[in-house]
Amino acid sequence: MIHSQFNFFMIRDNVNRVAAAIHEKCIKANRIPKDVKLIAVSKNFGVPEIMEAYEAGIRRFGENRAQELRDKAGQINKEFEWHFIGHLQTNKVKYITEKVKYIHSIDSLKLAETVDRLGGVREERIKVLLEIKTSDEATKYGLDTEEEIYKTAEFCRSSANLELTGLMTIAPLTDEEAEIRKSFISLRELGERLKKEGYNIAELSMGMTSDFGIAIEEGATYVRIGTAIFGERNYI
Ligand SMILES: *Cc1c(COP(=O)(O)O)cnc(C)c1O
Repeated sequence: MIHSQFNFFMIRDNVNRVAAAIHEKCIKANRIPKDVKLIAVSKNFGVPEIMEAYEAGIRRFGENRAQELRDKAGQINKEFEWHFIGHLQTNKVKYITEKVKYIHSIDSLKLAETVDRLGGVREERIKVLLEIKTSDEATKYGLDTEEEIYKTAEFCRSSANLELTGLMTIAPLTDEEAEIRKSFISLRELGERLKKEGYNIAELSMGMTSDFGIAIEEGATYVRIGTAIFGERNYI
C-alpha cells in the first residue's frame, strides 16, 4: 500500500545529503562523480513524496512493482525516467512497457523474450540490465549459471526491441562488509568479461542505502536508494 505520512521537508534534505555522500565517496574512491547516477527508489511512497524528490532535483525513479509503476507514472506528466528494479512476472510486463526507460531486473531468458515481444509497441528500445545472482542467498532472483547468463545476454544483444546496457545485482543481506564487497566485485568482473566479448555493458547497477559506499568503490554506475531519501517503508 502507498501512504503519505512523511515529512516532505525531510525529503529535500535527504536528497541533498545522499547526493553529497555519493559525491564524497566518488572523490575518495577516485571515481568521477557524474559517472555514478542516483536512482531514487520510491516504492511504497506516493506521488506527493515523489514530487518532493523531483523538486529537490531527482529525475530517475525506481519501482519494483509493475502496477505501482504504471499507476504512478500515469499520474505524473513531467520528464521522468522510470527504472524498473524488482522481480517482474511475465504476465505483468504489459503494465510497464510504455512507461519504463530501463528494466534492471532481467532475470530469465523468458522474461527477456516477453519484454522484447511487448516492447515492439514503442519507438525507443527498452534499455535492459541483466540481474545476476552474486551470492548464495536462496531468496534472491537473478541469472545464475554461465549458460543462463550468456543465452540471455545474447538474446538481448540481438533483439530488435531491447538494448542491453549493463548488469545489476543485490548484495546479500549481512553486516559482513567482505561478503557484500565480494558480490559487487563479482558483478564488475563478469561485466569486464562480457565487455571483452563484445557485449555492451556500460552500466553496473549495485548499491542501496546500506551499501552504496562499497558499491561505488567497486564500480557502480547506478545506485538505487530508497530509505535514505524517503525514510523507512511501512508495509501494511
Ligand atoms: C527497495 C530496493 C532498493 C532500495 O533499498 P533501500 O535499502 O531502501 O535503499 C534498491 N534496489 C532494489 C532492487 C530494491 O527492491
